[in-house]
Amino acid sequence: MRLIRQAIQRCSLSNEPEVILAQYREITRQIPLLYSLLIVNTAAVAFTHRGFAPPFLTYVVPAGLCAVSLFRVAKWLLPRNAPLDVTRARAQLKRSIFFAGAFSLCAVLWSLSLAPYGGPYEQGHVSLYISITVIACIFCLMHLPQAALLSCVMVTGPFITYYFLQHSLVWKAIALNIGLVSLVMIRVLLNSFRGFVELVRSQRDMAIKGAETERLSAENARLAMTDSLTGLPNRRFFFARLEEAIAAARRSGRRFAIGVLDLDRFKPINDTYGHVFGDRLLEQVGRRLTTAASTDALLARLGGDEFGVILFGGCDQAEAIGTELCELVSRPYKLDDMQVAIGCSAGFAIFPDAGGTAHILFDRSDYALYHSKSQKRGRCVLFSVEHETKIRSERAIEVALQAADLDAELCVHVQPIVDLQTMQVSSVEALARWRSPAMGDVPPDKFIAAAERFGMMQKVTQLLFGKALDALHSLPPELRLSFNLSAHDIVSQEIVDHLIAEMQRRGVSPRRIIFELTETALMRDFDLAVAGIDRLRAAGSPIALDDFGTGYSSLSYLRRLPIDKVKVDRSFLSGGNGSDEDVLAAIKGLCDNLRLRCVVEGIETASQLALVRRLGYDYGQGYVLGRPVSAASFRIDDAMISLDAPEPTARETAMPQLAARGVARRVRAKG
Ligand code: C2E
Ligand code: CA
Ligand code: CA
Repeated sequence: MRLIRQAIQRCSLSNEPEVILAQYREITRQIPLLYSLLIVNTAAVAFTHRGFAPPFLTYVVPAGLCAVSLFRVAKWLLPRNAPLDVTRARAQLKRSIFFAGAFSLCAVLWSLSLAPYGGPYEQGHVSLYISITVIACIFCLMHLPQAALLSCVMVTGPFITYYFLQHSLVWKAIALNIGLVSLVMIRVLLNSFRGFVELVRSQRDMAIKGAETERLSAENARLAMTDSLTGLPNRRFFFARLEEAIAAARRSGRRFAIGVLDLDRFKPINDTYGHVFGDRLLEQVGRRLTTAASTDALLARLGGDEFGVILFGGCDQAEAIGTELCELVSRPYKLDDMQVAIGCSAGFAIFPDAGGTAHILFDRSDYALYHSKSQKRGRCVLFSVEHETKIRSERAIEVALQAADLDAELCVHVQPIVDLQTMQVSSVEALARWRSPAMGDVPPDKFIAAAERFGMMQKVTQLLFGKALDALHSLPPELRLSFNLSAHDIVSQEIVDHLIAEMQRRGVSPRRIIFELTETALMRDFDLAVAGIDRLRAAGSPIALDDFGTGYSSLSYLRRLPIDKVKVDRSFLSGGNGSDEDVLAAIKGLCDNLRLRCVVEGIETASQLALVRRLGYDYGQGYVLGRPVSAASFRIDDAMISLDAPEPTARETAMPQLAARGVARRVRAKG
């Protein structure tokens, strides 16, 4: 009973698409075999019965059965013209069940109709034919149990009934035997089909798990390549794509551009309004840059306020595109009812002109960015041949610096800073000089920058400070000495400690030493720089803000800085026109407001001197007042100037060094 119930249950096709498709695949291989077997069997029975049975039964019916079988073989062997889907497979399976049942019934009725003919061999052949048909159907249709069951019922039903109605005990025994064998085989068939379905299900589950694992690993890979704050690709992705772009460009011989964008004034905003605010601002910058990304342009966040660009196409317009990106980022942002304005500078480099590896290309675009920051803030600079030459000379300086005997090759010169009221020298600025046996005289800003890059600054500063303090011996005791500190110096606790200790050790009053710091030095790490300044001031040394006006520190920064003096950069005197005067007057007003003393640097002509004096500046420094000279040759008389010095000649104005010499001549002549 249970077997019949189970059998009925199996009569409906599964609802699981994977099972249907798997069944279809299996029977595709087996049905042609089954029908081929039936053709052979049918032909054999027809052959053995010819002459015994009427020709209709030995020729016409078997020919019909063979034709149908051949048709079924062809149907399953010929390639399908439409892709297989579940609905089609299900319909096919249903048709196969119907055909199997109908064919089995016809075959058994035909064979039973032959049973009365012939002798015992022929009759035995018929029963063999029927038994083989049952077994073949059950085995070949194992993966379509509905068809196997139907065939079995269609064949064994009439067969058993017919043989049981015969008087021979042997026929009854055969019928019973075939009936029992069929039941056992159906049991085996159902067991194996259950195993088959379970296998298909477990394969499906494994496929689902596999797909999920694949999805998760793809998601992980995506996250590992994405910047979580802005949603832009991250540094890792950027460099991976850069490597790919280089390989592709090498193959195709095409050019492409890589760029670095860096936000201006982001740090002060981050410091003033906090990191959460800074992060939200970066998110908005990221959103804007996302709109600029395309198949031709990759934009990524490299870290902090730095973004990377790869332009796969249109690299001839790289500079213009870079400047457009800067403008896009520089448009004001609205955050919490607050309007925030930041700037953006960019540096681009072209493959293969600027370099052939990811490292070099990035380095070159970073170099161009540095130039944009210092000369073309808010715009894009393209790495050029001049930059390459500059890099070479910087490298040469670095190499020479590492091999140099610094104690012997470094010295300090001093340049007077004059009180513009009394026209007396009030202090001198110590300026580093390096005469390298290999390179000749190397300008201090160049070798200081190289020393910073090579982590040699501590050694260089300690040496220079020692030499500057030595220079004090040859100077009148009332003169103060200004000493320049680099960005690296002021944030290094060790160097600040050394400066204070050295003054103590040599018995030099810290009040006599003024430390000069540039705005850019302060901006690198504002908090650490302020801590360093506080310690030097606590020791008694005043601090001067050097090159004022060239950096980007705002008024609010100036107010927050614990400084004593401002040195106005010489660029404000360059043109000698009316606008210089306005700016200089404004700066003077600002410094008066903040109660800061002011030094104007780079006074080269008598008219400039007259101008700064008229504007009420406290101190002046420049070639017209005295050039940097070795401490030993410095004489205060040389540095004093006659207030009624004549205006410089046109040639002297064009060539300041002549002007200086002219003034010096006039001063000496006067003395
Ligand atoms: P700075 O601190 O602004 O120094 C003033 C520079 O202006 C000096 O250049 C000086 O020679 C030059 N100068 C003075 N008067 C005039 C003038 O009338 N016209 C023109 N065109 N220039 C004038 P120098 O000596 O080449 O130094 C360049 C920079 O190197 C300095 O700029 C300073 O930033 C750095 N530096 C010099 N010595 C040291 C040092 O001992 N330590 C550190 N960290 N930096 C130093
Ligand atoms: Ca200085
Ligand atoms: Ca300066």
